[in-house]
Amino acid sequence: MSRGTADLRALPDLPNTADVCIVGGGQSGLAVAYHLQRLHRRTARRPTVVVLDGRAAPGGAWRDAWPSLTLFSPAGYSSLPGRLMPRPDGGSNPDAAHVVDYLTDYEHRYAIDVRRPVRVREVAADPSAAESWVVHTDHGTVRARTVVNATGTWDRPFWPAVRGIGDFRGRQLHTHDYRGPRDLDGDRVLVVGGGNSGAQVAADLVGSAVRVHWVTREPPRYLPDDVDGRVLFETATQAVRDRAAGREARGVASLGDIVAVPPVRAARDRGDLVAEPMVAALTPDGARWPDGSTAPLDAVVWATGFRPALAHLHGLGLQWRSGRPATVAPAGSPHAVRSADRRSLWFVGYGDWCGPASATLIGVGRPARDTAADIADHLGTAP
Ligand code: FAD
Repeated sequence: MSRGTADLRALPDLPNTADVCIVGGGQSGLAVAYHLQRLHRRTARRPTVVVLDGRAAPGGAWRDAWPSLTLFSPAGYSSLPGRLMPRPDGGSNPDAAHVVDYLTDYEHRYAIDVRRPVRVREVAADPSAAESWVVHTDHGTVRARTVVNATGTWDRPFWPAVRGIGDFRGRQLHTHDYRGPRDLDGDRVLVVGGGNSGAQVAADLVGSAVRVHWVTREPPRYLPDDVDGRVLFETATQAVRDRAAGREARGVASLGDIVAVPPVRAARDRGDLVAEPMVAALTPDGARWPDGSTAPLDAVVWATGFRPALAHLHGLGLQWRSGRPATVAPAGSPHAVRSADRRSLWFVGYGDWCGPASATLIGVGRPARDTAADIADHLGTAP
């Protein structure tokens, strides 16, 4: 085969039409596909469902996580609907590779039809049918009656506006591209961010031959050591109940920001994980703090989070609020998963705005279930 022609055998073929097109084949997309299957398991009127995923293999963003990334919840509290995550050997919290294996097994176990690698370029309204869509991809188009967005946030790292970021002559990388301490061996590194990623990367680095400055805007707030994903999920669930009952909801954020997973706890207890105040600016060779002190640096790791990867919707003229589309909760659901603008468009797995703890393995199940029910209601296939 000459270099110029694509190997047509390798191209994923796409259906011309589908009742449901799920964009994104990570945990969120799989959870919606599972619930659509489950909801229609006893009906003849099963909607056609296709999942389009930009990656070449299962596992979503977990495939790109750094090797030592540890789940903040034990396996039993990191499960998708219908399948308990097996405990890893040694019983500790699972790592990213364990999650990839679990999601790969899940996809095969439920025979979820994922076409990959397929990148959705744009979702546009179908001019030939009301409330329907034309999904444009790098391998052709799919006409769909409904679209579920489950594209996650990994593909949209957030870089904060820090003075001097453009002048710094050392390396800069976001946690999106961090792959472990070996790349930064012997460097003087600034780790920016007071959440789980910042703590885990700083703990990862202090254990190797680098000088680490971990800086946070506020003093880091560790969750109590006996708190892990279980408690986070239960707190998020209670918040949903309280909101639904009109009571004041105490969200997960009230508990703290950092789960003290074993590597973080060990570094903290050794006194190696000490946060410093956020820098005032980067300089060509380092950083300067508000008190005027400076430090030379070779690299900066931005553990500053992510934003929803929704560029494929930008042509739709949706209402946006604080960087994300406006959404509403379907009747009878506490999860605001449906677009406020379009009846046949949903959002799953992006975080509290579309369902408390929905951006976690255990938290995505309920919003996914309610999305499937709302889709069935819209398509008229509800059993
Ligand atoms: P993703 O896993 O990002 O999957 C989205 C899929 O959509 C990807 O395969 C992507 O290629 C695809 N996609 C995106 N755009 C397009 C497009 N235009 N066309 C086609 N395909 C597209 N959760 C926990 O439960 N426990 C934890 O301990 C935990 N730790 C975390 C640590 C870090 C550093 C991060 C960033 C997150 C963590 N999370 C954790 C949160 C969450 O579980 C993950 O972010 C998870 O990856 C979200 O799954 P998802 O399916 O929503 O998105």
